[in-house]
Amino acid sequence: MKYSDKTLREAGTVLSDWFDGNGRDLPWRHTRDPYEIWVSEVMLQQTRVETVLRYYEPFLEAFPDLHSLAAAPEEAVLKAWEGLGYYRRARYLQRGARVLCENRNGIFPDTPEELKKIPGIGDYCAGSIASLAFGKEVPAVDGNVLRVLSRIWGIEAPVDRPEGKKAVADLAARMIPPGRVWSFNQSLMELGALVCLPGVCREDRCPVRELCRARMEGKTDTLPRRSARKQPETIRRTVWLCVRDGRILIRRRSGDEGLLAGLWEFPGEDEGSHGWKWDRNGDPAVRARHVFTHRIWEMEGYEVSWPEGRKLPPDCRWADRDDLALLPFPGAMKAFLAWADENID
Ligand code: SF4
Repeated sequence: MKYSDKTLREAGTVLSDWFDGNGRDLPWRHTRDPYEIWVSEVMLQQTRVETVLRYYEPFLEAFPDLHSLAAAPEEAVLKAWEGLGYYRRARYLQRGARVLCENRNGIFPDTPEELKKIPGIGDYCAGSIASLAFGKEVPAVDGNVLRVLSRIWGIEAPVDRPEGKKAVADLAARMIPPGRVWSFNQSLMELGALVCLPGVCREDRCPVRELCRARMEGKTDTLPRRSARKQPETIRRTVWLCVRDGRILIRRRSGDEGLLAGLWEFPGEDEGSHGWKWDRNGDPAVRARHVFTHRIWEMEGYEVSWPEGRKLPPDCRWADRDDLALLPFPGAMKAFLAWADENID
């Protein structure tokens, strides 16, 4: 289906008007500072607004600008991020801050093309920062926007493929009402968060229901389309709970272990790997399951004793309660942290 510029622009105006009257008052909507917008956009990727609200302001208090973030120890950044998950985002944020400070005197570029040269800034973040901080009339297309626009305009191409993404981005760019890019980009995010939800069409609250192709054609359940997705892989993992003199053994995951690299954990190993030899004491003390994007950990935690004479590997240490509270641990360790809380001094 071909749409005229007039039709697209009118729809963009309806959405912007709706946002101006209905948008939620969120802390990151009060700023035009590119650093603060960047932090909010990175936090909001794959994380609910309610969760981000608990982390956004404390994070900015700890790292109020690019320079403080660039200069901070990585562990402090990961600790401030603990609970938001997807820690790679925090690492990229800091890496990007360092590049901006070292190569650009801490000054953000204002175009998507230049912004995308910074580590950790992809198409979506570049569009957000350029439009929300600098008023550039460019779209910011994330998963919400792909869903909303593929429904409104009846886009049948899979939105997780380049052709589907491009079709959405092209239409979004043509919808922007002149001078109103801020409201327009916010309106798509807001519609995707409150009205046009995954698997749900709240047409009674929708400002564009009269022109929505998916609604008219009964396709709100089938759009957006996606190509067949691989099922996450299930990995059985043994976790060693080793208490000695009132402290528990923890290990820092190395930078090579892409998943959760740099975070602390109770040492463990995947089924089939040849790690430390331990004598298990009976049944598992803790059973836990954690779902990541592409894998699931089925974990069993066993109490073990530290063998006399074994040398402590350099990536391990004995931790007391304070250490467990201060060091960054991934959400996957939650049940084991609770066990440690009851079993150390
Ligand atoms: S009518 Fe339904 S599917 Fe269409 S944009 Fe509105 S909420 Fe989304």
